[in-house]
Amino acid sequence: MPYVLPTLKYSYDVLEPFIDQKTMETHHGKHHKTYVDRFNAAIAGKPELEQFHAEDLLWNLDQVPEDVRVAVRNHGGGAVNHSLYWDIMGPKAGGEPVGAVAEAIKAAFGSFAEFKAKFTDAATTQFGSGWAWLVVNKDGKLEIMKTSNQDSPLSLGKKPILLIDVWEHAYYLRYQNRRAEYIEAFYHVINWARVNELYEESKPSSGGCGSGCSCSCC
Ligand code: MN
Repeated sequence: MPYVLPTLKYSYDVLEPFIDQKTMETHHGKHHKTYVDRFNAAIAGKPELEQFHAEDLLWNLDQVPEDVRVAVRNHGGGAVNHSLYWDIMGPKAGGEPVGAVAEAIKAAFGSFAEFKAKFTDAATTQFGSGWAWLVVNKDGKLEIMKTSNQDSPLSLGKKPILLIDVWEHAYYLRYQNRRAEYIEAFYHVINWARVNELYEESKPSSGGCGSGCSCSCC
């Protein structure tokens, strides 16, 4: 089914000064929209693909026909990844994790400070364009990882609950080449309440359709 560019829950200017209004306008209105449009064009007229959510196609990427697999990986990934990125940011946010995910972070990494150091390292060392992630693996455990381009952890059987875009388009207008400053600023706009909800929904025991998919339909 056609992927819809999500409407943001906040206005373009409210993540200032950490993420500037111009970057938000361009990133959501141009970059993200292009991924959505190209993904929809790639699956248009293919009912065997149109019946699925983009997330499900990414989860089962190896079963997507070869002639559209790269388009689904790149543009479907770009569509889904950015939607989550907007979703886990917000105004009056930042600080430390809350709820069950706070406990899980402590259990997996020792402390929030150690988590932050490892996540920052992943975001800093992702060579070229890509993302750093906090994901829930098949055993329900937290992992930090990084991917290139628009590759999604869903295609590796992992459910993302936090991510940072380290493509230059995410930070260049304000930070130019200073990726480290953008990463540090990002911690001020993480909506940990939303991350905690995603964590709760991602736990294997949380039910859902049981197929391991991440779709919003069940
Ligand atoms: Mn981006």
